[in-house]
Amino acid sequence: MYKDATIDEINEAAGKAWRAFVIYRNISLRKRAAFMMEIAAQIEALGPVLVETAMRETNLPQARLQGERTRLIFQLTSYAQACERGNWLEARIDTALPSRNPPRPDIRKMLVALGPVVVFGASNFPFAYSTAGGDTACAFAAGCPVIVKAHPAHAETSELVAAAIWKAVNLTGLPEGVFSHIHSSGFEGGKALVLHPRVKAVGFTGSYAGGKALYDLAAQRPEPIPVFSEMGSTNPVFLLPEKLKQSASDIAKIYAASITLSVGQFCTNPGLIIGPEGEDLNQFLSQLAAEIRKIDPATMLQPRIAKQFLLNRKKALEQQGVELIAASDKEAIENQGMPTIASVSAKTFLENPQLHQEVFGPYSLVIRCADEAQLLEVATHLEGQLTSTLMATVKDIQNNLDLVEAVKNLCGRLILNGVPTGVEVCLSMQHGGPFPATTDSRFSSVGADGIKRFGRPLAFQNWPDQLLPDELKNANPLGIWRTLNDELTKEAIS
Ligand code: NAP
Repeated sequence: MYKDATIDEINEAAGKAWRAFVIYRNISLRKRAAFMMEIAAQIEALGPVLVETAMRETNLPQARLQGERTRLIFQLTSYAQACERGNWLEARIDTALPSRNPPRPDIRKMLVALGPVVVFGASNFPFAYSTAGGDTACAFAAGCPVIVKAHPAHAETSELVAAAIWKAVNLTGLPEGVFSHIHSSGFEGGKALVLHPRVKAVGFTGSYAGGKALYDLAAQRPEPIPVFSEMGSTNPVFLLPEKLKQSASDIAKIYAASITLSVGQFCTNPGLIIGPEGEDLNQFLSQLAAEIRKIDPATMLQPRIAKQFLLNRKKALEQQGVELIAASDKEAIENQGMPTIASVSAKTFLENPQLHQEVFGPYSLVIRCADEAQLLEVATHLEGQLTSTLMATVKDIQNNLDLVEAVKNLCGRLILNGVPTGVEVCLSMQHGGPFPATTDSRFSSVGADGIKRFGRPLAFQNWPDQLLPDELKNANPLGIWRTLNDELTKEAIS
């Protein structure tokens, strides 16, 4: 429907972004925040057409998309406030000690913008992790122009949001190149953007294959750049014995809902459930099976994702030792995802890496462990994850401290007695975990801490006050928190 960008158009977008960077990186935090607020206002002003278009393109229901639109607006406004608050700058000041031997110079450090950022939107979040989503908002807050590679699965939605951003660019008097929007139906356009010398960072949400390919491409550039890829995750859930005995049926009910939420198309979907063999696990399994049978298949985001789900589900169920426990009582029609639960012994799981792979959709594998020691063995053999969950009493935790340590080691968010689906947007959220969940576990793609991904520290040594950026001036004219001679304060320097 939309014309693929030519290489000349990609070069032009990158050139414009670079020219805009020189101006945009130096505008005040207040102006950056006003720009982001204006984007939020312009998206709101689009009215119902935005959700209607996304419904048509993604098959996601209205209520789900309305909720995601609210989240998008909240991200833009709360990251704008965080941008202006300035905590993300990590301002540090060590004043001169001229009489010390040797004398200490005046040194002041803060994060400065990296440069133009390329954003690859996600198919499963057409608003919150796409064109004006978390990566774009964080890059704008950090002072970086953005070039979005529109996701072809919701290209029209992306166009509408891009138009809202352009309006905000004009209304706030920013240079045109602060934002560009590229369509490209193959990989070539995205690759050319990542390889462009004017591009300095990449934000990506999607498959392992895509995220890792772009990461490798960026690492091979003459000047390698960071790629913040958020890829797949199986989000293991560990059922501990006392908790399982107390609440097997309740856990099964909340997990049937979590596994099938949005047809399982969440990166936080619980794809692995690990518990000790016995009566309580059997009760959990039979309740989970009963719940799953009642849930109807539903249409997935796009035919490609439905086809992939069908293939991956088939491949998983064909593995030796895997038993189908339950599927929906209703037949799935074209492009629908069939709610499915399978089970396997821990021994077989540990021997077969294929079973560790994510099946993106409403599918979960229950791993039966011979004893608690085997729960630990599974935890130590799992790959990096966005989240891990412990369903456990305090006594379970106290009896399994080694397991807790192993689980901490593998994830970015550790949940106790809850479900991994549902990612709160707040400063303390961590959405990022050890590889292969993401390419850099030190950062989060949710919450205003995500702004730090697009900044780099720059220290100013011996600069006179009037030449320093406002963030580091003696008077602290922005009133931001700064670490002054090892103490966090908003005080001015006398
Ligand atoms: P995807 O296939 O990884 O694509 C995401 C974006 O990256 C698209 O714009 C795609 O371009 C581009 N891309 C992918 N590989 C590339 C490469 N090698 N070179 C250049 N550009 C590349 O992800 P998706 O379309 O969102 O969904 C496919 C699968 O990703 C799902 O089945 C699921 O397994 C996984 N997924 C994970 C998450 C998550 O949150 N981690 C979210 C959604 C999906 P084109 O579309 O033009 O090919």
